Amino acid sequence: MRVSIIGAGYVGLVSAVGLAEVGHDVLCVDRDKSKIDLINEGKSPIYEEGLAELLAANIGKRLRAITSIAEAVNQTDLTIIAVDTPFDGERIVLRSIEDVAREIGRALAEKDSYHTVVVKSTVVPGTTDSFVLPILEEASGKLAGEDFGLGMNPEFLREGQAIADFLNPDRIVLGGIDRRSHDVMSDLYEPFAGVELLRTTTRTAEMVKYTANSLLATLISFSNEIANLAARVGVDAMEVMRGVHLDKRFTPIDGDGSRVWPGAISYLEPGCGFGGSCFPKDVKSLIAFGEEHDSPMRILQSVMDVNEAQPAKMLDLLGRHFPDLDGVAVTVLGMAFKPGTDDIRESPSLEVTEQLLARGAVVTVYDPVAHHGVVKVFGDRVTHGEDLESTLEGAQAILLMTRWSDFERIPELLKTRPQQPVVVDGRRLLAKDSVAIYQGIGL
Ligand code: NAD
Repeated sequence: MRVSIIGAGYVGLVSAVGLAEVGHDVLCVDRDKSKIDLINEGKSPIYEEGLAELLAANIGKRLRAITSIAEAVNQTDLTIIAVDTPFDGERIVLRSIEDVAREIGRALAEKDSYHTVVVKSTVVPGTTDSFVLPILEEASGKLAGEDFGLGMNPEFLREGQAIADFLNPDRIVLGGIDRRSHDVMSDLYEPFAGVELLRTTTRTAEMVKYTANSLLATLISFSNEIANLAARVGVDAMEVMRGVHLDKRFTPIDGDGSRVWPGAISYLEPGCGFGGSCFPKDVKSLIAFGEEHDSPMRILQSVMDVNEAQPAKMLDLLGRHFPDLDGVAVTVLGMAFKPGTDDIRESPSLEVTEQLLARGAVVTVYDPVAHHGVVKVFGDRVTHGEDLESTLEGAQAILLMTRWSDFERIPELLKTRPQQPVVVDGRRLLAKDSVAIYQGIGL
């Protein structure tokens, strides 16, 4: 199928590369010319494991990048909208969706054949039906369901494993305004034979995405709230959670007696809070959407409250050893909001680094891949470490913020140091007796 994707960000670019890889002819569109140029050179503007290789393998063959939406609509049969939908404190901002829908509509006016438009951006229930559809009809002078199809197909990829998730999805949710839109979207996903496919309304598809992210965020904040209490009463939350995980409703026992460890277990562990471009934004958007519809989301409000207070726990733990941080050399390890990505949006590390600087600490930061964005945020207010070894030198305290597996080397690297730093483990990655002075969330 000939497919165009508008927005070459984390979702758009990964989808474009993934769909080209499974055999579609893909046009990737972004208004940011520098991104388009990079993509056409076979280079990825973002870091995701495996992305650069797949991009290089497909570019110029089944994948091309351009800046014109009109050209993209004209040369393809289906257009996916994957632009940003940020939250402005009151509601999600549909500005990019609106601009893109209008341009697609204008292009549809010039096209004789049937075309299908699919919203992939995360949008609150009703957006596709009540916002995108009227813009498309008005700008094209055509009728949805007759002259063009419309659907909503939420994306569930996880940053850090985006390519693997896109190529091996656990489910595909297709919301459509009519049967033909559903059928076209099903054709798009034909190469993913065997994957469970849910055909539903656009509103339901929109709601599935928010519900899934809100549930995972709830598991995290629940675990963190338990962790904070455990720490107060002299109990290790890791052991508590281990005792909970061993319930066979969470970790079923296989026929051969071995445990199955579902991915959800990783959301039921103590930590310094969730970040990223999705969980905080999506939970806040759903809270605001609930308010708007007279259905207050009390649990989700608490999920956000717990999460917003969690990064400060790292400084509380540090404060046990350094009541005054003025002039103390602190290394912050991990700036990406999770391992496997260079995305630092809403990363708890940003908040923690700001708080350290405000208290006069001398801060060094290090992340194996998230370097560019960090320099932009902090400039020369911090020292930017080049590798793990050199970053640990001279540190009086180390705050471990991201679960990069490379950080498992810390105990080994610190072993021979005459002066042992305090290690504050925000992800409970290290064994608590593996370094001389250890503090951890939930301990
Ligand atoms: P992003 O900010 O990384 O990328 C958005 C891209 O859209 C940018 O490159 C921007 O230049 C482009 N764009 C914006 N307006 C445009 C216009 N008028 N014309 C052409 N290009 C335009 O965003 P993202 O992280 O890829 O997220 C996109 C959507 O997918 C959001 O709704 C997000 O909530 C959702 N989502 C994100 C993830 C994730 O892990 N990042 C996962 C699932 C769903």
